[in-house]
Amino acid sequence: MKYIEEFLKKEKPSGYYNKLLEELGGLNRKFGAFNFINKQISAGFPMSVKDNICVKGMETTASSKILKGYIPPFSATVIKRLEKEGFSILGKTNMDEFGFGSFGINSETPAKNPFDETRVAGGSSSGAAIATAILKYHVAVAESTGGSIAAPASFCGVVGFTPTYGLISRYGLIDYSNSLDKIGFMSRSSEDIRTLMGKSIGKDPADTTSVDAVLNNVSKQRLVIVDELYSKIDKNIKSSFDNTVKKLSSAGFKIEHLSIPEIDYSIPVYYIISMAEASTNLAKFTGFKYGLKVDDFSKGYNDFFTEAREAFGEEAKRKILLGTFIRGASVRSKYYEKALKIRRAIKDKMSSFLKDSFVISPTMPVIAPTIKEAQSFTPLQNYSMDLLTIPSNLCGFPSISLPSDYLNGLPVGIQITGGQFEDMGLVSFGEEWEKSFKYNFKYNLGDL
Ligand code: GLN
Repeated sequence: MKYIEEFLKKEKPSGYYNKLLEELGGLNRKFGAFNFINKQISAGFPMSVKDNICVKGMETTASSKILKGYIPPFSATVIKRLEKEGFSILGKTNMDEFGFGSFGINSETPAKNPFDETRVAGGSSSGAAIATAILKYHVAVAESTGGSIAAPASFCGVVGFTPTYGLISRYGLIDYSNSLDKIGFMSRSSEDIRTLMGKSIGKDPADTTSVDAVLNNVSKQRLVIVDELYSKIDKNIKSSFDNTVKKLSSAGFKIEHLSIPEIDYSIPVYYIISMAEASTNLAKFTGFKYGLKVDDFSKGYNDFFTEAREAFGEEAKRKILLGTFIRGASVRSKYYEKALKIRRAIKDKMSSFLKDSFVISPTMPVIAPTIKEAQSFTPLQNYSMDLLTIPSNLCGFPSISLPSDYLNGLPVGIQITGGQFEDMGLVSFGEEWEKSFKYNFKYNLGDL
């Protein structure tokens, strides 16, 4: 379904945006989707922006206390491109602080799942997924370092698209881990993802890692299931996934099981690389230039910075400590360099499979846990939830997460990963999928 096209064609009743804002305010208090709602919106297709992507003149905090009050003097390239194409900013969405988390609970306002408010919405792009699940005509600009688009999209029952690394400029993103970060989208249909990609990709002189690429609609009839991933999926999810695979197989897809032994290391490899990069990125938050300001200069050097950096949340502090350790000269070859080598090995193996197939898996190994359960997870339990979503970020490959089932009323997702620049092949897969599988939405704010 082409929500963007339909909305732009239809006549909007007078007062449409005011009514939308009013209703959104109420639901937002319930679910914690937005950090900031743009009350000035009065035209255009509503688009939300994850709060780690800069928008000129709108407070941008990455859901961190340390950035409270930061108002960027510029907009990210992707935002500028979309604004020129008729999209208007509805607000900045809630997230795990700086993108650190898988459940949307590492922020001041824990995000809640629109299908069951006692459960998590997924993270780190929690607010983006909630906004997409509650608003009929809306798209979300989000970001993923290691599954942060796919995870919340699957828990909230929406489409999550994480493009090939470099296709969308990262200029204006508050970096988590520069070699992994990708800006991507959430929407209610794959057709809307096609529209968004068409308007936002391409080289940007402000981001040297951005690229121009010709994207074609590769179509593949072979789907690979990776044994090492499949064996770690929760029972419920496994039987739902098996059913989905059966459907695909009767639709003509050839399904194959293959093994990538190296993929078992993807979680440690991912966390070593991402923490090393995160700890350098967080070094600039000193209380001088951005956000939180400490004005008392009479203190000593250590006291001054300790006070300013006290505002970081627990996971941010953990990443600073571990990341700084990992980068230390005496252990660099033991952890960081080894991680880079394994990352390369995983990429080579996956590339060879992806020549004539897509990789398929559930998006998350479990159903959305309750907020209480998620709060009691140890850091290692948290990290292990990213098992299925991390490989595509590690390799820079595109992936799409599509709603594929509802278990006890809670959405479950599948994830399809393609090779470099095969983005539109994944979008086409989604479009085909949506012809036979209807998505459920509990809310349709802004319906016309
Ligand atoms: N759970 C992952 C992390 O904390 C996801 C991060 C992301 O994609 N932004 O690193």
